[in-house]
Amino acid sequence: MPQATPIPSDVVARIARVEERGVNATLAFEADTVLQQARALAERPETTALDGLALGIKDNICTLEYPTTCASRMLEGYRSPYEATAVSRLKAAGGIIACKTNLDEFAMGSSTEHSAFGRVEHPLVPDRVPGGSSGGSAALVAAGAVEAALGSDTGGSVRQPAAFCGVVGFKPSYGRVSRHGLVAFGSSLDQIGVFASSVTRAASIVGVISGRDPSDATCRDLDPVQPALERRDLRGLVVGFPEEYFPADLDPAIRAACDKTIRALRDAGAAVKAVSLPHAALAVPCYYVIAPAEASANLARYDGVRYGNRVPSHELFALYRETRGRGFGDEVRRRIIVGTYVLSSGYYDAYYGRAQIARGKIVGDFAAVFDDGVDVLFTPTTPTLAFKAGECVEDPIAMCRTDVFVCSANLAGIPAVSLPIGRSEGLPIGGQFMGAALADELLLDVAHVVEGLIDGAEEAR
Ligand code: GLN
Repeated sequence: MPQATPIPSDVVARIARVEERGVNATLAFEADTVLQQARALAERPETTALDGLALGIKDNICTLEYPTTCASRMLEGYRSPYEATAVSRLKAAGGIIACKTNLDEFAMGSSTEHSAFGRVEHPLVPDRVPGGSSGGSAALVAAGAVEAALGSDTGGSVRQPAAFCGVVGFKPSYGRVSRHGLVAFGSSLDQIGVFASSVTRAASIVGVISGRDPSDATCRDLDPVQPALERRDLRGLVVGFPEEYFPADLDPAIRAACDKTIRALRDAGAAVKAVSLPHAALAVPCYYVIAPAEASANLARYDGVRYGNRVPSHELFALYRETRGRGFGDEVRRRIIVGTYVLSSGYYDAYYGRAQIARGKIVGDFAAVFDDGVDVLFTPTTPTLAFKAGECVEDPIAMCRTDVFVCSANLAGIPAVSLPIGRSEGLPIGGQFMGAALADELLLDVAHVVEGLIDGAEEAR
């Protein structure tokens, strides 16, 4: 696949320009580190798949070039002794690790306002949020500072910011990309995903990072995701649109952009039909029990002894209390408290146990439509456009609602992609396609055709 070779000094200038504007999308970025990698690449005799492509890496993915902080005081300055499998594969394929990108602390949030190192501005409209939790990655790709970026998607954190910023965001099926070196949040939900300005570019990155990895027991013994991207139309394809994802209070511009997309799908030969995912309303409450439960267990290691910046004390319990009390921000503390509560004896059955039952029903809904001949599902990615900074940050319930269309794919482990499908008053609108588990190739093939049918920059009306 041909790739544009960026001039590394230009990459440095592009990232610097975005950061001079105060977007705050990077947490680590050094010109020398970028240029050194570029020089080493230039000396490699063989040509490489990614050929000097500049990449942003979300700062909850371990790198050797830069610290890995998860945008938390707890890990400020932390340098991982190893790098993520996805990162070493990108480097081996000729990618340049240009910078680490800002995120909601430990990837918990939907606006990148929960970073301990300051919020990320929307790249087009500074008083709006870029979405989250991978807001820095989305903003940098949208601003044209890097060619592609990695994010993590536990409950929508690649697709929702991709929609808000107007870029492509792909979350692979659970198990298609190694999680080795991704700092764990919700281990049954977490996947590394990709941001790029086109499906072709996103697919080329996924092709590099995916595939079996003995270092991650949850990574499937499968070949890398390699879509052909040769399909020219959608003839023979059945696209379902789940009624539950088009509620009465959906933003009218988003509805208009979705209607236009559905017309384009039909014109390209797809059979488009209404379907039902009857347990869709359980997704957000189910996610906000399971994700915090898993997070509370995963974040127990940050105690100032095993991991995390220690607040010294003469007494062990005080050391734990001070380290965790000062190291974690409000949102992370809230999740740990909720997660500990739903797992505690006496409440386990009422919350965690019931959430697992709900998860089973959500998985069953998706399996039923895909077994019934539907190839892919189409939905809006978000119920609203990028909201104003400060609008949801004091209201955790309002923040959760922004995940209403995206977190079900994580609960079901299925692949999903958000594409730009229009704009409203300059703000991007995302459309989401979801596929059956492990049907990542088909999903990307379809997304590639759809991208050619729709002008993502056109005003929706
Ligand atoms: N917004 C969701 C949350 O706050 C999803 C986060 C994610 O995917 N990392 O948990």
